[in-house]
Amino acid sequence: MTPTSPEQTLLEHYVKKILAAAVYDLAVPTPLQAAAALSQALGNRILFKREDLQPTFSFKIRGAYNKLVQLTPEQRSRGVITASAGNHAQGVAMAAQALGISACIVMPRTTPQLKVLGVRSRGAEALLHGESFPFALEFALDLARQTGREFVSPFDDPQVIAGQGTVAMEILRQHPGQLDAIFVPVGGGGLIAGVAAYVKYLRPEVRIIGVESEHSACLQAALAAGERVTLASVGTFADGVAVAQIGAHGFDICRFCVDEVITVSNDQLCGAIRDIYDDTRSITEPSGALAVAGIKRYVTDSGAQGQTLVAINSGANINFDSLGHVAERAAMAAS
Ligand SMILES: *Cc1c(COP(=O)(O)O)cnc(C)c1O
Repeated sequence: MTPTSPEQTLLEHYVKKILAAAVYDLAVPTPLQAAAALSQALGNRILFKREDLQPTFSFKIRGAYNKLVQLTPEQRSRGVITASAGNHAQGVAMAAQALGISACIVMPRTTPQLKVLGVRSRGAEALLHGESFPFALEFALDLARQTGREFVSPFDDPQVIAGQGTVAMEILRQHPGQLDAIFVPVGGGGLIAGVAAYVKYLRPEVRIIGVESEHSACLQAALAAGERVTLASVGTFADGVAVAQIGAHGFDICRFCVDEVITVSNDQLCGAIRDIYDDTRSITEPSGALAVAGIKRYVTDSGAQGQTLVAINSGANINFDSLGHVAERAAMAAS
């Protein structure tokens, strides 16, 4: 036997956690679906991983449930607290309700109303604080210290990362054939860390490409600096990924498992929402369209043809009222 590297050991550790993750009590395995029109337009085979079809309309239920289900009875009785841009909040609220745990959730004041309602309708307490996620996070950490509630990070937690990694487990099982790259939207890096750990352990030839909003590109900044950096400001149009610093646990994996990071503009996100609609008749939120916007840029920049590319469509929680703006901007996007 050849000695294993620390990197390989770390990946194996996560693969075991992913295989053991108890997500299917609440989450559903989602379809991996061919996107016919986009495939033809781009000259590549494009597949959508439909995480917008989860019960809370985003993949976050996977990590949230996997974290909460593993809390001790003592931790459960003290309740949980989290900060979230909205989708993790709904995941925690749903998981807490299913497990009978009290949940308090801090969200930025800019959170779309339907995400706030999604939390309250599931019996959790929703507090609105701060302009964006970093401020909500600080407030929630303070409250956790004061109340003794268990803090549940939206991305910087091995159990959350393992829950999100089950997306990759499904992709590889659903598509055993040729697969050139998986495009993963990045906020705090929990999803891409879980996906990258699983894929690089089992099929290292598959490229893992992160896609960030150019207004919150904290993974790209960290990879360039060789360490986690905090962005001075973040834009909140893609509110699901408006994070100023990549998570520490996620960065441990991303630093050697992510092949490339692409950034996209808000207008490109709007164009991608339209592309997704054209192929699925479904609407995603801006963050949910990051991967598709990334694929379009990737194909344009690299000239890739005949490849099989997967986009993780990560969420669909967008206020109906903002669709007019999205449609208008989509018309501006160079598509
Ligand atoms: C949270 C989220 C992301 C990013 O996931 P991270 O684990 O924070 O990187 C992407 N899209 C949507 C819709 C999200 O809710």
